[in-house]
Amino acid sequence: MSDRPDPGSRRSPHLASRLQGLGTTIFAEMSALAEATGSVNLGQGFPDTDGPPEVAEAAVLAIRSGRNQYPPGAGIPELRLAVAEHRLRFYGQALDSDTEVLVTAGATEALTAALLALCETGDEVIVAEPYYDSYPAAAARAGARLRAVPLRPPSWDLDLDALADAVTPRTRLVLVNSPHNPTGRVLRDRELAAIAEICVRHDLLAVTDEVYEHLVYDGRHRPLALYPGMAERTLSVSSAGKTFSFTGWKVGWACGPAPLVAAVRTVKQFLTYVNGAPFQPAVAVALGMPDGYFAAAAAALRQQRDRLCTGLEGLGFGVCLPEAGYFALGDAAPLGVGDAARFCRELPGRVGVVAIPVSAFSEQRPDVASFVRFAFCKRLEVLDEALGRLAGLQGPPAGSPGMTAAPTGPVER
Ligand code: PMP
Ligand code: GLN
Repeated sequence: MSDRPDPGSRRSPHLASRLQGLGTTIFAEMSALAEATGSVNLGQGFPDTDGPPEVAEAAVLAIRSGRNQYPPGAGIPELRLAVAEHRLRFYGQALDSDTEVLVTAGATEALTAALLALCETGDEVIVAEPYYDSYPAAAARAGARLRAVPLRPPSWDLDLDALADAVTPRTRLVLVNSPHNPTGRVLRDRELAAIAEICVRHDLLAVTDEVYEHLVYDGRHRPLALYPGMAERTLSVSSAGKTFSFTGWKVGWACGPAPLVAAVRTVKQFLTYVNGAPFQPAVAVALGMPDGYFAAAAAALRQQRDRLCTGLEGLGFGVCLPEAGYFALGDAAPLGVGDAARFCRELPGRVGVVAIPVSAFSEQRPDVASFVRFAFCKRLEVLDEALGRLAGLQGPPAGSPGMTAAPTGPVER
């Protein structure tokens, strides 16, 4: 977002040099813009309805029954057990909940602590690009360097030749996000197998980001840890936020071999020590929900995905139907847009909708410059309102009168 006064892009006189340029996250920036302009916020990925009432009640009960002091550093035993049972139930992965599971402040802390714990200064971390915005920030803090391997539009397949070429003597680990934000891709078996083969051949570690593991609409999620040779070298990270629609609770976890978990725990204890005491028992309840809950959550989001994607296609965007997650990418090139960053900056003023340019998830990549990320984890009427407003792109320009207030949900932003 270049030619606008932007606190995020200015050099800060006080910020350490290794963190210069990180600025304000695109999600915070765009949610603030949505609020300021009364726009429908299809930017930051948070649902506008709450998760299961019985899970919310479990948190209320935990607060009322005094579970409000520091929990154990690794997380409460019942949640660690629930995480281990969840991995066994869905993936057949057996874990010792005492030594192989660590509760964290969301997936973000787990991923950051992992990079801090596992990387020496100057180490390289291979990652598919576009990538989630906390990865470069975590790498910068660890003094590590990201080596990006492109996911190429329109299929967003992983470039396996580039993956093989990305390995250097400094490569320490591969950071794998599947299901993927922002593309909505679920890595194929051949892609995961190629990653696993490279990790084993070069004796690399893997850290996975599986926060969208249950929100899969086409295909299926298969953890990298299940591939041959990977269980002993993979730290798997996930979180309750997306699966249970409680993104603000920030309860996540890392699991895998005890030595990897212990290394991450060492760092984690000096980042937050612990978090979310009353939310931890509630997430334990959530992880034990019947299969029907997980299927229904995905089915509801699939309907939202379809509503948004059909609408965007009708408006002329090039849409690649996401297989998973919260987000759909629209190529605005057919609308004559070459610079999605500029387009997204102008969109709130023009029609009252906020979305995120895919360029926010990548370095200079001309092939992704016209792509826009829209969140579909919103009620159908909110998606319809957004689509109605986007239809105005074809009509009268910026700030025209008659714009209605954005529908707001029970979750205040
Ligand atoms: N990884 C990805 C790919 C994400 O989209 C997000 C956003 N939820 C996170 C990690 C962060 O998850 P949490 O809120 O649990 O820290
Ligand atoms: N993961 C969310 C997204 O991609 C944002 C979470 C955040 O704002 N840190 O929109």
